[in-house]
Amino acid sequence: MSQALPARAQVVIVGGGVIGCSIAYHLTKLGVKDVLLIEKDQLTAGTTWHAAGLITSAGYHDDTSLWMARYSRDLYSKLEAETGHSTGFRPVGHLSVATNPARFETLLRERDFQVGYGVPNEIISPREVSELFPLARVDDLIGASYVVDEGRADPVGVATSMAKGARMGGATIVEGISVTGFTRTGRRITGVTTNGGNVEADTVVLCAGLWTRQLARKAGIDVPLQAAEHYYLLTEPMEGVHRDLPSIEDLECYGYFREEGDGMLVGLFEPVAAPWHPKQAPEDFAFGTIPPNWDRMTPHLEKAMARIPSLSEAGIRTFFCGPESFTADVLPLLGPAPEVDGLFVAAGLNSVGILLGGGIGNVMASWIVDGICPVDIAAFSIERALPFENSLRFRTERTVEQLGVLFGDGSFPTFHQHTARGIRRSPLHETWEKAGAYFGVSAGWEFPEWFSPTGENPEVPWTWDRGHWTPWIASEHKTVRENVGVMDMTLMSKFLVQGPSAAIILDRLSANEVVGAIGRVVYTQWCNDRGGIDADLTVTRLGEEKFMVVVSDVTHRRVERMLL
Ligand SMILES: Cc1cc2nc3c(=O)[nH]c(=O)nc-3n(C[C@H](O)[C@H](O)[C@H](O)COP(=O)(O)OP(=O)(O)OC[C@H]3O[C@@H](n4cnc5c(N)ncnc54)[C@H](O)[C@@H]3O)c2cc1C
Repeated sequence: MSQALPARAQVVIVGGGVIGCSIAYHLTKLGVKDVLLIEKDQLTAGTTWHAAGLITSAGYHDDTSLWMARYSRDLYSKLEAETGHSTGFRPVGHLSVATNPARFETLLRERDFQVGYGVPNEIISPREVSELFPLARVDDLIGASYVVDEGRADPVGVATSMAKGARMGGATIVEGISVTGFTRTGRRITGVTTNGGNVEADTVVLCAGLWTRQLARKAGIDVPLQAAEHYYLLTEPMEGVHRDLPSIEDLECYGYFREEGDGMLVGLFEPVAAPWHPKQAPEDFAFGTIPPNWDRMTPHLEKAMARIPSLSEAGIRTFFCGPESFTADVLPLLGPAPEVDGLFVAAGLNSVGILLGGGIGNVMASWIVDGICPVDIAAFSIERALPFENSLRFRTERTVEQLGVLFGDGSFPTFHQHTARGIRRSPLHETWEKAGAYFGVSAGWEFPEWFSPTGENPEVPWTWDRGHWTPWIASEHKTVRENVGVMDMTLMSKFLVQGPSAAIILDRLSANEVVGAIGRVVYTQWCNDRGGIDADLTVTRLGEEKFMVVVSDVTHRRVERMLL
């Protein structure tokens, strides 16, 4: 039940999807009771209500994502005991199948990593896949990974169980009120404006799902995310389908499958996707669906359905399409907005908001309370996102490939995005091009990964193996070691820090002694209050009161914030 809008709260959370509910729940667990969650419609009305609810750590081989996925899984398995409200979590098991050696290598590496963290991930044979999932075609499989204690949950149950826990912990949840903007004093966001009056707050947290980009602009902040069409098909009941069937995904055909009402849910991550309302998402879209584009989707659907041959005989109940936010690198945008104080963001969930939601809420709550993130958040931090990613053109172009990238294309070390390229180029770009450069991309910068001696670059496969380019890299390395080479550092961010206080400020920020002789370059770290590394950089003294700070392109916004 919704409550009246208070005039003030310690923390105001904007958006009652899985992420907002999770942050509210975890804040109350840390003893912050004066939490107000404002939802413009009803809880889960944005994207959360129609998620497929897969709960899996498939694809995760970094400790932060894996921790978030496993924490979420564990939380959803026990939340009902605390709140009396079911999350619908059922550990039916999760299978990922591989049909070619490169995909299988990915599964092996993932298994090795995850086992080290206690995840019961095992590699199984095609015959074992068949035993677990008799409806699947297995004659073309090399093998599969199987995690027995993961599976599925009810996304609405997950969000509303956490909302109930938050209320039990003292939080207030108000539905049917829209946040329309922000109140501000200088750099500090001091609260929100709504269609029901203003609310003062020490901290505002934006979890407004696909609407976060447009809402954040009202605070002058770039949160580059873009909604895309996202599909699944529901069939009529099928023979051989039962509620304990594991979920199964096939990255090569961009499809995943699980039981739904004795029929099958066939989910799609088509490699050529469609952005949804890139100019402006409609504000009044709640519990909404998008009319499916059958012409565009039928080839993808047919390819995916080949994994479960009996699907071709099944009656179709619904072909569902709903919007979900994707980001430039398919990772969420989390943390304090660098350009203002008192504003946090948690959005851009790239179709994993349910399976990471518990962990994200936990991390965000600690970050809000302590001012320091409890895990290595570099890859998830809002600070890595740059304003050019927020342009209409960038979002429209990039989003097209992001569903496939998320579903596994992006897992290979040789992978580079092929959309929205050529945005930032070094002054030496043409020189590198003529020298046969193969370009990678980082923060929009095109940079040479290696040079082909013949001037031609054959196609680079997605692989974990050495490639035709490995000897070329070896020879370049040898040349630089034994002779002379030019390093193009254009892609690094550079800050000129100058003035009477420059030395004092840099000395205070740096762990190393950076105020030395003019011309000296010092490699150093800027640390947080707990000694964690916030930035890894060099400081060069150019003059008495003039320094150059050179830092990785992806920490530009963070370093700028630390300097101000
Ligand atoms: C077809 C499909 C299948 C999916 N399957 C899975 C899956 O299997 N597993 C998984 O983990 N994820 C899945 N997802 C993704 C998952 O649903 C999302 O990542 C997740 O729901 C995002 O949660 P959120 O809280 O960020 O956003 P939302 O759920 O959209 O919540 C944001 C809320 O903010 C509110 N809001 C917006 N603007 C304002 C404002 N100005 N004032 C107040 N309130 C506002 C909205 O009404 C909304 O309720 C799927 C998504 C789709 C589309």
